[in-house]
Amino acid sequence: MRRVTVGWGIASPVTITFLGGLGEIGRNCAAIEIEDRIMLLDCGLMFPDADMLGVDLVLPDFTYLRENKDRIEGCIVTHGHEDHTGGLSYLLRDCSFPIIGSALALGLARSRIEEAGLLDRTDLIPVTDGERRQFGPFDCEFIPVAHSVPNGFATAFHTPQGTILHTGDFKIDLNPVDGRLTDLATMGAIAKHEGIRLLLADSTNADQHGHSRSETSVGKVLREVFAAHRGRRIVTACFASHIHRIQQIADAAIDQGRVVATLGLSMKKNVRLALDLGVLKIPANKLFDINDVADLPPGEVCVISTGSQGEPMSALSRMAAKESKWLTLTEDDTVVLSSHPIPGNEMDVTKVIDALFRIGVDVVHSGIEDVHATGHAKQEELKTVLSITRPKWFTPVHGEYHHLVSHARLAEQMGVPKNRINLCEDGDQLVLTDDSISKGETVPSGYLYVDGSGVGDIGHGVLRDRRVLSEDGIVVIFVAVDVKAHEIISTPEVISRGWISESDTSGLIDECTVAVAEALERATDRGSAIDIEALQKVIRSAAGRFVKQRTKRRPMIVPVVVEI
Ligand SMILES: [Zn+2]
Ligand SMILES: [Zn+2]
Repeated sequence: MRRVTVGWGIASPVTITFLGGLGEIGRNCAAIEIEDRIMLLDCGLMFPDADMLGVDLVLPDFTYLRENKDRIEGCIVTHGHEDHTGGLSYLLRDCSFPIIGSALALGLARSRIEEAGLLDRTDLIPVTDGERRQFGPFDCEFIPVAHSVPNGFATAFHTPQGTILHTGDFKIDLNPVDGRLTDLATMGAIAKHEGIRLLLADSTNADQHGHSRSETSVGKVLREVFAAHRGRRIVTACFASHIHRIQQIADAAIDQGRVVATLGLSMKKNVRLALDLGVLKIPANKLFDINDVADLPPGEVCVISTGSQGEPMSALSRMAAKESKWLTLTEDDTVVLSSHPIPGNEMDVTKVIDALFRIGVDVVHSGIEDVHATGHAKQEELKTVLSITRPKWFTPVHGEYHHLVSHARLAEQMGVPKNRINLCEDGDQLVLTDDSISKGETVPSGYLYVDGSGVGDIGHGVLRDRRVLSEDGIVVIFVAVDVKAHEIISTPEVISRGWISESDTSGLIDECTVAVAEALERATDRGSAIDIEALQKVIRSAAGRFVKQRTKRRPMIVPVVVEI
């Protein structure tokens, strides 16, 4: 193994701090440190779960990076997906550093940064397939991988502590749409010549047996589906960054004598970007503006739309709700959802499908035909990478905890000794020294929530309150006290929302009022000083007990003591 030796023959340690993506799918972010400099590896966002009420996005906790912002050398974006790039427009508010990646990944990342008005805080540095380049103390090699967005990279860091290989999001597609294979040869060559000290690999599909289907197999199915729906207008929906899917949809459509039009802002933007970069090829005379296709015969039109995840404001959802100003869907249309709902989005997707069926549209989705293939390696592919790279140490990344455990087991099966597999979670730090790789300190790694009002204004407490309110409602109890006269001067007034029917024919509100009044009576000594906080406690526990006993519910109880 190649080692750079400093000082007294001991190489300086290298650390990797995981700030997101280990324990959830999303907000991928890691910090690699050499000689006091930090290279970020991705900076992504996560879309919220259904129980994160009112939350738009979830980011990594940036505390560690903000505290060390002067040491940040740059950020490598492994590919253009938002779970790897979407946090940059937030982190750049506090820090300034260059972003390194393929031209396409940079192009995709750029939009959000530009929207946030932060382009002047960064330089976008494009790197190409197979390029090896030095950034400060970081000697980085960019290795092509196939994924569900073109031009993804695995990254090899040649460090004083040996080579760290990070696979990025990848699959082994032996028939990729663009012919760009996951470069196993280079990974193997590094493994053979200098050895791979630590492998960090994508775990998304680590519990899926077998091998992922090639993206080109989706093209074949799309052609069959299009042929079966000849003469009808076809509207397809897929991820706006899935340029290979867009290519295959366009190819199938054009072969069948259709023209193609994009619908949805991000689809339009990304198609333009990919055409400009030569990553997507659609003849100019076949690409129409959405305004110009409404009057064409249905059998000559294929619309490529956003909204494959049932996002409520997306172009597809609007069409399904008959609210699109661009297209009105009818029984003569076929909608192809060329996607699979990501966890958490199933309900939204089902709603859109139902709405489309109500209009009479013919809907084809991945449950009916194989119109989607995953972008992440399954077990046989992960084993292939483990066998080619023969890592000394292994840490699974990019996955929920059970994915990470499955991947760790695969590594063990492939010969990595158990004591050299470090199962890490968000906030963990790995320290690479001459002797071993072990866990170091932990850093803050909680969820940073973004909602309409800003970043970090809402914490777990706010979310817990929103959950309670949404499930059991709220009961507010007003009591007026005369502090000077040392007495409670009103009977409690109970108001509730979302607990019981507002008309309350059961008389529960009245009973609750009596229960609170009695508790107050028992708890207070006439004439002695009034302790507001103690009163609030008495009200909360009396009302809480009553409500729970009588209705088996736990609404939020808010005692309001008004001093007069
Ligand atoms: Zn990802
Ligand atoms: Zn990805």
